[in-house]
Amino acid sequence: PTSLLWFRRDLRLADHPALLAAVDAAGSHGSVLPVFVVDPRLFGPAGAPRRQFLRDCLASLQESLDGAPLVIRTGDPAEVVPALAAEVGADSVHVSADAGPYGRRRDEAVDRALGEVELVRTGSPYAVTPGRVTKADGEPFKVFSPFARAWREHGWRSPAPRPDAVPWHRGAPSDGLPPAQDLDGVQLPPAGEEAALAAWAHFRDELLSAYPEDRNRPATAGTSRLSAYLKYGCVHPRTLLADLAGSDDGEEAVRRFTDELAWREFYADVVWHRPESAREPLDGRTGSIEYDSGPEADALYDAWAEGRTGYPIVDAGMRQLLGEAYVHNRVRMIVASFLVKDLHLDWRRGARHFLQHLVDGDLASNNHGWQWVAGTGTDASPYYRVFNPTRQGKQFDPEGEYVRRWVPELRDVPGAFVHEPWLAPGGVPAGYPEPVVDHAAEREVALARYQQVRSA
Ligand code: FAD
Repeated sequence: PTSLLWFRRDLRLADHPALLAAVDAAGSHGSVLPVFVVDPRLFGPAGAPRRQFLRDCLASLQESLDGAPLVIRTGDPAEVVPALAAEVGADSVHVSADAGPYGRRRDEAVDRALGEVELVRTGSPYAVTPGRVTKADGEPFKVFSPFARAWREHGWRSPAPRPDAVPWHRGAPSDGLPPAQDLDGVQLPPAGEEAALAAWAHFRDELLSAYPEDRNRPATAGTSRLSAYLKYGCVHPRTLLADLAGSDDGEEAVRRFTDELAWREFYADVVWHRPESAREPLDGRTGSIEYDSGPEADALYDAWAEGRTGYPIVDAGMRQLLGEAYVHNRVRMIVASFLVKDLHLDWRRGARHFLQHLVDGDLASNNHGWQWVAGTGTDASPYYRVFNPTRQGKQFDPEGEYVRRWVPELRDVPGAFVHEPWLAPGGVPAGYPEPVVDHAAEREVALARYQQVRSA
């Protein structure tokens, strides 16, 4: 028999339960057809960095198939997948389950269209499949810490072994890789499974022990930089967790890093239970806070998106996004808070901009990360906690190294003045803007709007 392995967010061969299931279904005389469908509904809105990274991941996956072609087809999966199954006479289609709102609908449609051919879901991109961890009464968690506790207690399987030899099917023609993208100078990380495992090994061996301190320093390469690999499944979080279990890098470092992986799983779980929260405020009350619109708001938005707000740490972060398709986590929080609470703009505008430019752009992590900051999402940051960009800059980038890296206009501003150039002896250097708003005043405006919905 022939089984079809439809790759999606699992572009690897190691620790891949759906691959093992496909090999199993093919039996000793059958073959496995490796397929990727370029779905215009996902590929279109992804933005050039993510499209290119995906393309590079596919090229790398192709290299690891022992000379068999990865069959790439473009179109609606509900048409493409059944057609391919018929073409090669497959009797089962194997996937890792998708937990996102669109992916779930798509898979139901594909399942229906496949008719007699079975769609077999094995595993998911998460250590614990979203929806599996609930409170004792079966209700979903709405707060991170108890979720993370229950998630750890639930536990996860051991990594699946990488199959020695896969009997790849070699008969179906491929449309070839999706088109290369114009990146406009953006530097992307190397793509694919091997690069992901190398990034992980480097982090585990060199950086993990200092992670608790270094993770908040945007100037330091102190985090794993695995987010894009996790997004496309070049490595599975279970592989990382299994490795951590054998690590002697200090409990605190291991706990910290495991917690970050748990955030990713938490947000996927929230979206699984509340799919509409991927796009709309989870909390109806803070969700009704008034945001500004119109030409003046648009001009402020542009200043934010282009890194010209006059607040150095904000501008450095927004320029890192355009330069590297990545932003350090601490700075994501700072720039998001600035958009929502200093400029009073709708978090959804910022979330869309991030999704378009981030190489790790992920609907659940991004839109709930934004809602966390905007105070419209799960637990955590209450609306009245407003990040002070200057203080954040001084605290987490004390030498100003991160700001100077991304904002060349400020390179010669001495010492900590780099975070408040308007106080520097020579004033704001030529070519760098004065602050577009006054943080202290806008903080009051944000709090007043919050009070309004609270008392309503
Ligand atoms: P590490 O510190 O090494 O963390 C390891 C992994 O844990 C990450 O790769 C990621 O998969 C996960 N992780 C860490 N922090 C978080 C978090 N707060 N929420 C969810 N998962 C987390 N992450 C994305 O993967 N895609 C996004 O689109 C995204 N958008 C964000 C938007 C905002 C406004 C905020 C505040 C955070 C966002 N994050 C997003 C989370 C976080 O910023 C990134 O995952 C992290 O910066 C990636 O760098 P790293 O791999 O070196 O992280």
